[in-house]
Amino acid sequence: MDLLIRNGRLVDPGRKIDTVTDILVRDGKIRKIGQVDSQDIPVFDAAKLIVAPGFFDIHVHLREPGTEEAETIATGGQAAVAGGFTAVAAMPNTKPPNDNPSMTHYIVSEAKRSSPARVFPIGAISKDQKGETLAEIGEMYEAGIVGISDDGKPVMDAQLFRRALEYAQLFDLPVIQHCEDLHLSKGGVMHEGVHSTRLGLKGIPAAAESTMVSRDLILSQMTGGKYHVAHLSTRQAVEMVRQAKASGIRISAEVTPHHFTLTDAAVAEYDTNAKMNPPLRSEDDVAAVVAGIRDGTIDAIASDHAPHHINLKMLEFDRAPFGITGLETAVGLAFTRLQLPIERMIDMFSLNPQKIMKVAPWGIFEGSPADLTILDPARKWTFDVVKTRSKSRNSPFHGWELTGKAVATIVGGKVVHEEKRL
Ligand SMILES: [Zn+2]
Repeated sequence: MDLLIRNGRLVDPGRKIDTVTDILVRDGKIRKIGQVDSQDIPVFDAAKLIVAPGFFDIHVHLREPGTEEAETIATGGQAAVAGGFTAVAAMPNTKPPNDNPSMTHYIVSEAKRSSPARVFPIGAISKDQKGETLAEIGEMYEAGIVGISDDGKPVMDAQLFRRALEYAQLFDLPVIQHCEDLHLSKGGVMHEGVHSTRLGLKGIPAAAESTMVSRDLILSQMTGGKYHVAHLSTRQAVEMVRQAKASGIRISAEVTPHHFTLTDAAVAEYDTNAKMNPPLRSEDDVAAVVAGIRDGTIDAIASDHAPHHINLKMLEFDRAPFGITGLETAVGLAFTRLQLPIERMIDMFSLNPQKIMKVAPWGIFEGSPADLTILDPARKWTFDVVKTRSKSRNSPFHGWELTGKAVATIVGGKVVHEEKRL
């Protein structure tokens, strides 16, 4: 399946590439970078577009097996490529969870069969995500996991978390923590602050996140483990990560587009599409998160794509589940809200995610899998949730006008998504 990507601006900051030229793809891999004179090969015209190493969303919930009415590996994969992602890492909190090698095998083979995006499974830290005993981490690693996490459920037991950090090092796997002290957050449905008081809803204090980050940093330092903070949302936690990096602890952190875009004021009308965990935080927290992105404290942007069936999100605020979809809006929100240099965007969406997870790297080099995200930073568009590729529509960004978009997605040399040309 050959393809000639013509006249694109190739940008791969990891390999110091920023040049306008062609890419020749053969058998799913990049064979040549540079001007190609060739007939009889299908051409993808990338003039005036940016060709970047494939974007990788390291925090996605695909819901299969167990909750296929909300999403499947196939529909989640379609939403991923529609949003510009060539790869996603799938969180293990399915029903049952991915805590054993046969489940990991199932996800890998089902993704190969049905998903246009590559799917890298994340294994559970603990059996059944109960936080009691370690899951079959070594066996899951053999089957293809790229990290471990009990996402959705924090590991409250410090001894178990210590063991996870120690054991995961044998395989160089990151240990990904959903940072939330369950005693502090108990019963909370939104950020604890003036808005929760006014609405009469029980709050989740910022300290529920930062106390867990601080405990984990001590354990990371003690064990030398590879620690990753999922969906960081508070000023205190950003500051702790900054300090920890300065002192040489192996730590990385991700942030979601909703946490750098919205504040807890979005809950105003009891909108359940503003209910997520960690919750939307204060203006001060959002400012700190954005500053953390700008100065490199935060390594990656990940969507925390969390599809839920509409019947559940129509419940009253207290009872509705946490989470929103995000695969199709992440890149547009990042372009619009952050206006980062393009190299930094590519770092946050592709190169750093590849470094955080245990994956074989890809990029703009000869021999790499031809996994590429084609970007138009100037493209204006409006997100219409009715047209989503996800099975679910729980997004607060319906109708938002954004500037900047992934206009095509290429996986293994195949154009798996392409927007209409303007
Ligand atoms: Zn999550």
